[in-house]
Amino acid sequence: MAKSIRSSAKPLPKPVHTDGDGNHIHNLILLGLPLQERELISSKLEFVRLKTHQVLHEPGDSLKSAYFCDTGLISILSVFPDGKSVEVGLIGKEGFVGLPLVAGFRTSATRAVAQIEATAFRVDGETLVVLLRQCSHLERQLQQFSQLMAMQVTQIAACNRLHEVNERLARWLLMSADRVASNSLPLTQELIAQMLGTRRSSVTVAAGMLHKAGLISHTRGGVEIVDRQGLEEAACECYAIMQRQTKQWQDA
Ligand SMILES: [Zn+2]
Repeated sequence: MAKSIRSSAKPLPKPVHTDGDGNHIHNLILLGLPLQERELISSKLEFVRLKTHQVLHEPGDSLKSAYFCDTGLISILSVFPDGKSVEVGLIGKEGFVGLPLVAGFRTSATRAVAQIEATAFRVDGETLVVLLRQCSHLERQLQQFSQLMAMQVTQIAACNRLHEVNERLARWLLMSADRVASNSLPLTQELIAQMLGTRRSSVTVAAGMLHKAGLISHTRGGVEIVDRQGLEEAACECYAIMQRQTKQWQDA
C-alpha cells in the first residue's frame, strides 16, 4: 500500500514566479492566476524594457500587443486633435495595457505611455485572444481590472473638472507612489503638468504649497513624498474614494 502511494505520488509543481527566460514576475494579475494558467501564459510572454516617454500605442492604433506591467508607471491619456492630452488612468504592477482586446475590440481609444522607465511582459494581441478562451481565470481577472480602470477613469474625469490643482497633485503623487511602491518619484514638474492637463506654473505653485507644508521634497529630477499621511489629507477625496472602491471589490 505504502509502495503504491509512493509510486503514484507526483512531485509538487514549483510555483512559477518567473517567465520562461527566468525574468521575475511582479505583475499582480499574472501572480494571481492558478499555476496551470500561469504556466500556459508564461510561455507566450516576452519581457520588455520600456523607456521613459515610450509610447505603447496611440488612439486608433491596432493593438498588436498587450502588456502586463511589471515595474514602473504607465499613463493612459486622452488625446485631442490639437495635440493636447490629459491623463485619465495610471497603471503599475497591478495592471494591464490592452483592455479593448478583452472585449473583442482590436484598436485603442487612448494613448498609453511609460511615465517612468518600466518593464512589462508583452503578449501578442492575437495570442492573448486565444489565451482568453483557454484561461477563464485570466479572462475574469482582466474583466475585473477593466472595471477598476473604468472606475478610475470616471473619478479622474470628475477630479480634473472639479478639484484644485494642489489637491489633484497630491492625489496624483499618491496614486503614482502606490503603483511603483516607492515614495521617490522621478517625475519632472513639466511631466506632472502634462498629466494633470494644467500649466506648469500652476504645478510649480501647487508643489510649492505641498513642499512648504512639509509633505513633499524636491529631489534631483523628481519628487519625494516625505509625509504620506499628510499628503493623503491634502489630496481631494478622489484618492480615498478610489482606494475604498478598489478594496470593496477586491474583498468581495
Ligand atoms: Zn479629485
